[in-house]
Formats: sequence, C-alpha cells, structure tokens
Amino acid sequence: MDTFVPYKEIILMYLEKARTFVNGQCAGIEPWQLIGSTFASTLVVVWLHGILFQPESLTSRSKKWFFKTLRKLPFVGAIIQNQFNKALDDVASGLHFLNDGKDYIKALPAQGMSQPVLLEKMKEYSSMGKVHWEDGKVSGTVYSGEEKLTHLLVKVYEEFAWSNPLHPDVFPGLRKMEAEVVRMACTLFNGGPNSCGVMTSGGTESILMACKAYRDLAYERGIKHPEILVPMSVHAAFDKAAHYFGLKIVHIPLTKTMQVDVQAMKRAISKNTAMLTCSAPQFPHGVMDPIEEVAKLALKYRIPFHVDACLGGFLIAFMEKAGFPLQRPFDFRVEGVTSISADTHKYGYAPKGSSVVLYSDKKYRHYQFFVAPDWQGGIYASPTIAGSRPGGIIAACWATLMYMGEDGYVEATKKIISTARFIESGLRKIDNIQIFGKPEVSVISIGSDVFDIYRLSNLLSTRGWNLNVLQFPSSIHLCITLLHTKPGIAEQFLEDVRDCVLEIMKDPKAKTTGMGAIYGMAQSIPDRNMVSEISHAYLDCLYSTDIPSSDKHMNGSPGHS
Ligand SMILES: *Cc1c(COP(=O)(O)O)cnc(C)c1O
Repeated sequence: MDTFVPYKEIILMYLEKARTFVNGQCAGIEPWQLIGSTFASTLVVVWLHGILFQPESLTSRSKKWFFKTLRKLPFVGAIIQNQFNKALDDVASGLHFLNDGKDYIKALPAQGMSQPVLLEKMKEYSSMGKVHWEDGKVSGTVYSGEEKLTHLLVKVYEEFAWSNPLHPDVFPGLRKMEAEVVRMACTLFNGGPNSCGVMTSGGTESILMACKAYRDLAYERGIKHPEILVPMSVHAAFDKAAHYFGLKIVHIPLTKTMQVDVQAMKRAISKNTAMLTCSAPQFPHGVMDPIEEVAKLALKYRIPFHVDACLGGFLIAFMEKAGFPLQRPFDFRVEGVTSISADTHKYGYAPKGSSVVLYSDKKYRHYQFFVAPDWQGGIYASPTIAGSRPGGIIAACWATLMYMGEDGYVEATKKIISTARFIESGLRKIDNIQIFGKPEVSVISIGSDVFDIYRLSNLLSTRGWNLNVLQFPSSIHLCITLLHTKPGIAEQFLEDVRDCVLEIMKDPKAKTTGMGAIYGMAQSIPDRNMVSEISHAYLDCLYSTDIPSSDKHMNGSPGHS
C-alpha cells in the first residue's frame, strides 16, 4: 500500500521531455518569427474574447445578424418588407385614439388665451375618447378615482405648485414631507432603524435606481460586467435598467405556478451576479414570487436582493390586517431582502408621478446617489434621475397617505381583495378558460387551451371592458382597483366573460381579428427586432400632429441599413 511514488521526479522528467520537444519543433525558426507569432496570436485571442463575451449573448447577436442579412436578400427581403409594411398599417389603423377629426395646434397662439376660453378648450381634450375608466371597466390604470380625494389633491397641489425639492432651503416643508413619506413606507415594510429610501417619479425610476445602486456596488467589488438575475415575469423596467446602465440581464424561467424557479436562479448565479430579484406580486399573472427561498440564496452568496412591490406594495402591506394574510413574508422581515420598490401612485392612491425605493441599510442608498463635485454651477448632489422635481406631486402623495391612514388602506385592501377572490372563484367555474398560478393579490390572468384568448379580449372590449393583453404565453388579465369594488361591477364582469366564452365556443377555431390578431402576429414574428421597429412606429404615432388619412401608408421604409 505505502509504496513511495516519486511524483516530483516524474513531473520534472515530463517537463524536460516537453522542453526538448518544443525546442525541437522550433529548431530553424528565427527569434523574430517567434516574437511576431506570439504577438499576433495574442491579438487574435483578445479579439476573439471581445467578440465572444459581450453583455448581449452570442446567440442573440447571431440571430439579429441572421435576420438582418435575410432582409437584405433580393426576393426574400422584398417579401419580408411587404409583410412589415402590412403590419405597420394594421397597427396604425388600430390606433383609434389618433383620430378625433379635429385639427392640431402646431404653434403657440399669437395672443395668450383668456382663462375661460382656455378652460373651454381644455374640456374638448378631457372629453376625448370612448373608454370611461369611471365605469370600472378598465384594468388597473386608475386605482382610486375617489372624488373627495381628487378635490383634496387639487388644494394641496395648489399650495405646493411652484415648489421643488432641489431647494430645501427655500421649501423646507416639502423636504420634511418627502422624508416623512419615505419613513412611513419604511415602517410599513418593517424596515429596521437603518432602513431608508427616496421618492421617485414612479415604479420605473425606483427600479432604475435600485439597479444603478447595485451596479455601482458590483463595480466596487471588482465585477467588470455586472449581471442582474430576474424572473421571466419581472417588469420590463428591469430590461430598461439593463439597457440604460450597461448591465447584462438574465431572465430566469418560471415554474408551472408562474413563480420564479429558485433552482434555476441558483444555477444562474455567477461571480458576475450583482443583484437578485423577485416580484411581490408580478405584473402578468399577479403571482407572488418565493421571496424567502431567493433571500436564502442572496444571503448564501452575499448578493443584494430587490423585491419589486411596485404594483401591489400598498396592498400586501395591509393584507394581514384586512383579513387576508399572505402565505409567506415578503418585506424587510425576511433576512436577505436589501431593497423594496413600492408605488404610491398605484395602490397608494396618490396621483401619478410618485413611488418609493427603500433600502434595508444606508450603505446601499449611497451607491444610488450622484454627485458632480466639480461643476461650475456648484457642488451638484442629486438622489435620483431628475434634477428639479415637482414638489406639488410630493405634497399630494404625502396628503394621500395622511388622508387614507392605516384604517383607510386596510378598508380599501379588504374591498379589493374580496372582489378579486370573488372574481377568481367565479372565473374558475367557467369552462374552457383557466387561471394562471395562484393569484394572491389583485391581478387575475386568464388563458385558454381551447381557443385564442385574444378573441375573448376582443369580445369583452365590445362590451366596454379594457383588459391587459399579455404574451408568452398568450393571456389577458384584469387588475382589480377600487373602481371594480363598486356594487355590480364584478358580477357584470363574470357574466360578460361567461357570455363571451359561450359565444366563442360556438366556433372555437375561428380566426382572431382586430387588436388581438396584431398581438398574435407580433408573438409569432421570429425577428424580434422587427417587432421593435413596428413599436418605434407606434411611438412615433403618439407624437403625431397630422390628421391620419386612411389611404396613406404610415411609413414605407423603417430605415434599417
Ligand atoms: C407598474 C409596475 C412597475 C413600474 O411601473 P411605473 O409604470 O413606472 O410606475 C414595476 N413593477 C411592477 C410589477 C408593476 O406592476
């Protein structure tokens, strides 16, 4: 057993053999050749490394190249271009809101308008459109709409209309309000004594800020190419953050219950991971991600962990008191959660333009801040993306929190969750449709194995409903707000879904038309870049000040070169 093996001698022998072999191979090669070829091959390796390892994966880049080339081919290219133009026209003609038949104002009025005339003119704009959110038939969008609150907010805005938190010396009361909004939110999510946060302009900015903070933390830890790990179902604001801040985003698949697959997330963790993410709940299906499990990963691998509670933050914080306790904890009580985003302008019922991002510790918030110490305009220190910010919105948000109070939020949550549970159980009784996962909060998404679910959204919109359209997999959802809790609305919804499904089942394989067809088509286009180009045209439309003529193409050439 204990025979002595002379490892050292054996290794030395092999090294000697290798040396003589290499020298033998190089016999007759001049030194300059050796130096030159070493230099050249090093360059090639560096060049290859640069090509292979970029924030965007090689497969994604090859795909883009493939489709770009395809579109340049003589015959195929023309066919694709035709299809593209047709899709553009379909999208443009689907945008009914572009056509109110009236002229656009394209320059300042030469003389300022008198207030009565102006207010008259304003009514023209506020009365545009056929969808009336007041009737409680629109998914999400307006979360309260309560008239008493509206009047209060107008008064508060008036008082703070000219204020700007950029000048706390001029508006000290506003500074205090913002600090109090953040502190109230920290308390709500059970932050410790070191918890802190900032107010932002909305959920997207809250998410951007958390991603920016963790990117800079990763840089400091020596990570050159930070990656963020997010569930497939996460809000697109994370993709936006990755796009803006040069991060690699890794989408983690979901389980059948539409929760993020924790094992897959664990496998995706690498030395470059800058942040883990969960949603509470996620937007598409209203499902809560397994926050406790992901928090364990965050602790084990010492990675910051963001919980996106933008949508439902101001519901989940009150669900226990409202009599609908959630199955699992979700806030700073879960060790490992380092930040939470929650939108005051959703279920906080404040007007649009306000949200908070909270951190478990001040050390994280510092990575979010921006300072330009050498600016000629003075030392410029700014907490978020915007410079000047609307003080009126901050004051209105503060006023909403104070007006609602804990009892107000608990009451609102009770109404919304019981309506959601009522709708969920009603939907589960309808044949040929299904609900995705277990929606614990206020969003319920519907799909079907039997017919194209977009037909259901088309039919429902003929009855005045305005639902969200989701993709991968095809589904539609209703996000229940206070407006849906009014008497009769939930019953009406269930009745309309029941009727529409019966109608569809008369011919389950019939062709989808209208907006539903556009969504179906968009999902089936393999060249995702083309979907982006069509979307650019859509965004251009939003800024159109030309009355659309029915016979003209929206835009012939999308300008890809
Ligand atoms: C609405 C929402 C956001 C961000 O929304 P904003 O429109 O920027 O306020 C982020 N995450 C989820 C889950 C959301 O529903």
